[in-house]
Amino acid sequence: MKQFALLAILMLPVTSPAADSKTRNIFLLTIDGLRWQEVFRGIDESLAENTQYNKRLEHIRKLYWTDDKTKRAETLMPFLHSTVFKSGVVVGNRDRNSCARVTNPWHFSYPGYSEILTGVVDETLDSNERIQNPNESFLEKLNTRVNYSGKVAAFASWDVFPYILNIERSGLPVDTGQKVNPTAGEQERIMGRLQADIPPPWEHVRFDAFTQHYALSYIERHHPRVVFIGYGEADDFAHDGRYDEYLMAANRTDRFIGELWRFVQNDEIYRGNTTFFITVDHGRGEEPEETWQHHASKKTMEKNEQYLAQYPEGIVGSEAVWMAAMGPGVPVQGLIATGDTCLTSNRVASTLLKSVGEDYRLFNPGMGPPMMEFIE
Ligand SMILES: [Zn+2]
Repeated sequence: MKQFALLAILMLPVTSPAADSKTRNIFLLTIDGLRWQEVFRGIDESLAENTQYNKRLEHIRKLYWTDDKTKRAETLMPFLHSTVFKSGVVVGNRDRNSCARVTNPWHFSYPGYSEILTGVVDETLDSNERIQNPNESFLEKLNTRVNYSGKVAAFASWDVFPYILNIERSGLPVDTGQKVNPTAGEQERIMGRLQADIPPPWEHVRFDAFTQHYALSYIERHHPRVVFIGYGEADDFAHDGRYDEYLMAANRTDRFIGELWRFVQNDEIYRGNTTFFITVDHGRGEEPEETWQHHASKKTMEKNEQYLAQYPEGIVGSEAVWMAAMGPGVPVQGLIATGDTCLTSNRVASTLLKSVGEDYRLFNPGMGPPMMEFIE
């Protein structure tokens, strides 16, 4: 009898936490500092007509303008609007009572990404310096699990991500094009050479095209189960005051995400069991108009007295973000109204863990709890 009991226990299926989840693979995609205003309203007429920010009005008009206000956003980001927002969930359109925001008090990139990736708000992360993140990301945590080990990969345009994801401790593969990857395939090696020969206008950010195509090539060869891609151009063009380039970067990233989705749908391993989650690390200003270029909280201004000193209240609106998801296990709900509350970025990591059947409390109970709005 005892033996039977033992046998019965052994024959129980290994309690796989993923057993009750509807999806198997997660792609988390971020677009640095792309405002909800452009995502949901499309091109801003006043900024586009301001020759300080855009010197090729006709060109930009031809690409992204339409007199029909309801179609303007779709013209700028057609994949998000026609596919993601319709087949999944979206939050953050503040014109329609839908609110998402960061929880960290700083409203710039490192703390924003750390919040998204670790689920924890660590107020001591108060700069964009190359500091090894003391907090563990959900990628790092999953990578310790037998079902995910070696199947987690990150790609980013900004060269601070190896620190945000603390590769020293986590050992995660984080490609920002800084080092030649010894396991790189032919395509990836060519991309590495092109990247070196096509210098971007910024010191610490590469062009997103390299991030995209490097990621695609790697994903096709290795099929990681957890993918993070950090697109970066939009924020840099905005800081440069180039509204035309900012719009084109937004449109290009939309196309990149569509390209990735089509790849997934045509791939044996990913088809039907891969979920996309898309968000941003911070918002930008709206009023006064020139603040579209910037983002920072009042607290950031108080800490750095020189920085944007003409805005003692901070850049209003830079805490505003948006989020969207699509794939198995994500309800087909479209825009979620949030009433008096806002969904927050520190809940992204636990939501993604839950979507693959993992309980965030076993990893770190201090993470923001899952957003059930994103789970069927
Ligand atoms: Zn920025």
